[in-house]
Amino acid sequence: MTELRSYLGGDWRPGVGDEIALVNPSHAGRIGHVRRAQGLALAVAHARDTGGPALRALTFAQRGRLLERMAAVIHAERDALLDLAGRSGGNTRGDAKFDVDGATAVLSVYAELAKGLGDRSHLIEDDAQPLYHGSKLRAQHVRLPRHGVAVHINAFNFPAWGMIGKAAVALLAGMPVVSKPATSTSALAHRIAELVLADGMLPRGAFSLLMGPAGDLLDHLEPQDVVAFTGSADTGRLIRSHARVLATGARINVEADSLNAAIIGPDVARGTELFDALVRDCTVEMTQKAGQKCTATRRMLVPSALMDDLQEVLVERLDELAARVGDPADRDHRMGPLASAAQLRDVRAGIQRLCECATIVRGDPQRRSFGGEGTEAGFFIEPVLLATTPQVALDATAPVHRTEVFGPVATLLPYDGLAATAGRVVGAGEGSLVSTVYSDDRAFVREVLHQAGPHLGRLVVVQEKTARASLPPGGVFAVANHGGPGRAGGGEEMGGLHGLELYTQRLAVQTGASQLARLLASD
Ligand code: NAP
Repeated sequence: MTELRSYLGGDWRPGVGDEIALVNPSHAGRIGHVRRAQGLALAVAHARDTGGPALRALTFAQRGRLLERMAAVIHAERDALLDLAGRSGGNTRGDAKFDVDGATAVLSVYAELAKGLGDRSHLIEDDAQPLYHGSKLRAQHVRLPRHGVAVHINAFNFPAWGMIGKAAVALLAGMPVVSKPATSTSALAHRIAELVLADGMLPRGAFSLLMGPAGDLLDHLEPQDVVAFTGSADTGRLIRSHARVLATGARINVEADSLNAAIIGPDVARGTELFDALVRDCTVEMTQKAGQKCTATRRMLVPSALMDDLQEVLVERLDELAARVGDPADRDHRMGPLASAAQLRDVRAGIQRLCECATIVRGDPQRRSFGGEGTEAGFFIEPVLLATTPQVALDATAPVHRTEVFGPVATLLPYDGLAATAGRVVGAGEGSLVSTVYSDDRAFVREVLHQAGPHLGRLVVVQEKTARASLPPGGVFAVANHGGPGRAGGGEEMGGLHGLELYTQRLAVQTGASQLARLLASD
C-alpha cells in the first residue's frame, strides 16, 4: 500500500517507524498509510528562511494571484477530490462539496480581497493621529507580516477547507505555512497538497506538509512564529501550555469544541416558514458530515409550548434520513459513517454522558446495520435526538452544557421563551462558535444579541420574511468571523481582512506627518 509522504524542506520525504493505516470508514478497508516524519527542525527553518523572504518580496496583489491559481488547480480536480473525500473521510457527495468547494471559495474570497490591497506589502490600519493636542508629531498603525512560519494543525473533519482556509490567509499575509492535517482523514489533504505543489505556483518553502503525528514540531518554534490549531479542547490545552510556546511567546490561535445553540423565539409556530427553516437547519446541522462539524447545532432551545410539535416533526425527518445512512459510494445514501473507530467510540460514550441529564427520543446508538457492502465493519451511527427538562436547561453543570458529542446528536432543551433565559442557557456552554436565533420579535432578537452575543463568535438571525433564503448556520463564510470565546478556544479566523491580523504584527510608527506619509506610501 502507498505511503503518503510528507513534503518538508522542499522535497517529498518518507517517514520512519511503524505504519499508521488510513482506512475507508465505510468498511475499514485500508487505503494507504503514513509514518512518523523526521527532520522537523530543518523543515521549519527551511520554511522560515526560504519561504518567508520569498513571500514577503511579493505584494498583496501578487500573493492574491497565487491564491487564485491554487483555487483553479484544486477546482480542476474537483470530481476526483470529491470521490477521495468519500473514500477517505466517509463523506457523501454533498459533504465532500462542502469541504472541497469550501476550500476553493476561501481562496477566491482572499484572492479578491488581495486586489483591493493592491501593490503594497504592509497594511495601514488607521489615519495618522497627533501624539497630543497641537503636536506636529503623528502616530499611525500599520501591520507587517511576521518573520516566522505559520504552523497549522488541523482537525479531521475538514481536511480540505481546514488546510486551505488557513493557508490562504497566511500566504496572503506573507507567511510560509507548515500544515499538519489530522491523520485519520489526511489522504484528501495530501492529494490537494500534491496538486498545489506540482503546479509550482508557490515560491520554494512557502508550503510544507507534515503527515502523521506532530512529533517534535512545536519544539522548533521561534518568537515570530504563529500556531493556528483546530481540534479538541484537550489538545488545544496541551498546545497552549507547550513549554516552547510559553518560552517564545509564539502567537497561538485555538479553535476548539463548541456547543452551538438554536434559540427558538416565543413567536415561532408550526406551519410558518420560520418553523420550516428551523426544522431544515436542525436536520442539516445534525446530519451533514454525520454531525462532525464544529459549527453543528448541539442544543436546541425550544419554548415549552412548541416542544411537542418540534419533536414530532424532527423525529419524522430524522427517521427518513436514518433509513438512508450507508456507504456514500452509493449516492442514494444521505449520511455516511463517522471518520474513525475512535470517533465512533467517543460519540457512543458522549451519548451515554448526555443520558445522565436527557432522554433519547429518537435513534439507537447501538444500531449495527447500514446500507452498503461490508458496512458492519464501518464506523456508522444513526442520528440520535435527545430531550431534557427546563430545570436541566438551566443547570450549567449538566452534561448537555459540558459535553460536545461530535456526531449526529443534538438535544432539545425546553425553556420559558424569555431572551434572558436563552442568554443564560447559551452562556452555560462556556463559549461557542455560533448560535442561531429564529424569531420575528425584534425586541426578543435584540435582547438575545446582547445576552448571548458575548458568548459567541457568530450569531445568525433568521426571520419569517427571509426564512426560505436563509442558510443553515453551520456554513462558514470567509467574510465572517470564525472562532469563539472560552470552550471554543478563544480564537478568531477569517472574517475577511480581520483574518490577516493573526499573521501580521501591529506596529505604531511615530514621526512627523510628512515623513510618515513618505514612509507608508505604496511600495
Ligand atoms: P484532536 O484529536 O484534538 O486533533 C486535532 C489535531 O491535533 C490533529 O491534527 C492531531 O493530530 C493533532 N494533535 C494531537 N495531539 C497533538 C499534540 N500533542 N501536539 C500537536 N498536535 C497534536 O481533534 P480531532 O479529533 O481531529 O477533531 C475533533 C475536534 O475538533 C472536535 O472537538 C471539534 O469540536 C474540534 N473542531 C473545532 C473546529 C473549530 O473551528 N472550532 C473545527 C473543527 C473541529 P493526529 O490526528 O495525528 O493525532
